[in-house]
Amino acid sequence: RHKEKWATTAPRIPSTRLALHHFDTSYSLHLGALWPSVRAGLLCEQKYGALLNNFAAADHVPQELELLNATDFVSEAQQWQRGAAVGEVATGCQEGSGEGRTVMQAEMMTQAEMSPPLCTSISSKIKCYTFPRGDITRFRPARPDSLGLLDYYLMDAASLLPVLALDVQPGDFVLDLCAAPGGKTLALLQTGFCGHLAANDVSVSRTKRLYEVLHSYVPKEVRDTVSVTSYDGRDWDQVKGGTFHKVLVDVPCTTDRHSAMEEHNNIFHKRRTKERQMLPMLQLELLMAGILAAKPGAELVYSTCSLSPLQNECVVERALDIAEAQFNIRIHVEDLSHFQTLFQDTFSFFSECRLGELVLPHLTANFGPMYFCKLRRM
Ligand code: SAM
Repeated sequence: RHKEKWATTAPRIPSTRLALHHFDTSYSLHLGALWPSVRAGLLCEQKYGALLNNFAAADHVPQELELLNATDFVSEAQQWQRGAAVGEVATGCQEGSGEGRTVMQAEMMTQAEMSPPLCTSISSKIKCYTFPRGDITRFRPARPDSLGLLDYYLMDAASLLPVLALDVQPGDFVLDLCAAPGGKTLALLQTGFCGHLAANDVSVSRTKRLYEVLHSYVPKEVRDTVSVTSYDGRDWDQVKGGTFHKVLVDVPCTTDRHSAMEEHNNIFHKRRTKERQMLPMLQLELLMAGILAAKPGAELVYSTCSLSPLQNECVVERALDIAEAQFNIRIHVEDLSHFQTLFQDTFSFFSECRLGELVLPHLTANFGPMYFCKLRRM
């Protein structure tokens, strides 16, 4: 009886505190001396990027954003990439001259740094504006054009990296297995290359948000090329196996920034302990479903917004083993190290990831966390 009373009146430890305690224990080991700065980033206001909506009549928006000192980080990386290519063939590096890092660093690159991955193109039609390092200006809310389509979508700019890594090519059949609320789905559509896009999410309420995003940003003729479903992604193989050229598996995770800052819907709530502990298993099952949905030769990107190696590299490693042992499918892990070079002005990367790439929150570039790893089904 005494215990009962104690149980109902004992102060509940906030989920955010439980999350931070958990992070302090595990990430200080994983990130070492970097953890205090990453921790500070997690606890401070996150930075956004403005993903331009190519479907809206908003030609004036780039100029408006550039006047505020924002730049499109994707086209900056492309310019730099072109500068590097010009430097590589030693033609004098005329292209993009006067572009600061673009030309200077391209000229200074060693042969090793200009190895094949740098030649890999990054999707040209995605445009995302960010403010420079250390500039914490906020973007105004999105505005509708004359047809009601919004001019940009505000999102963590690091969320675009998995989409850029997927490198959608014209006519590709693309699967976005865990798609809601739809930031990456929208980015996939901005490439203008999806022959067909299957956007799936098990949560019916979150799928409604995905519909809202599609209606606010995408004209009907393009929406008609998207099929939205609410299957459990783990069962996808029973629906349509082996048919996609590109698969994005952006799994549910501990959403570290949210867990450190928000009580609402926090996966570190005591009642959700079991669900949290089962996350790596769910992530593995979703990644396996993604692998089985991909055609031979197709490419996949696995991503999370967690710093946890148990939810990142370990899931990928397990999936490679299972694919080989149980399905006789060989998977190649693609090298994305050139992303660190291409996007170093915008994001802080963890340089010691065993597999894939990890964007670390940093006070001067407060994006992420975002882990992404690219695989090819052989
Ligand atoms: N890709 C989304 C975006 O960029 O807006 C964010 C996806 S969020 C990280 C993970 C999503 O996985 C959640 O919307 C959740 O509802 C969904 N999810 C969780 N379990 C799932 C399952 N078994 N099958 C499919 N989706 C699932």
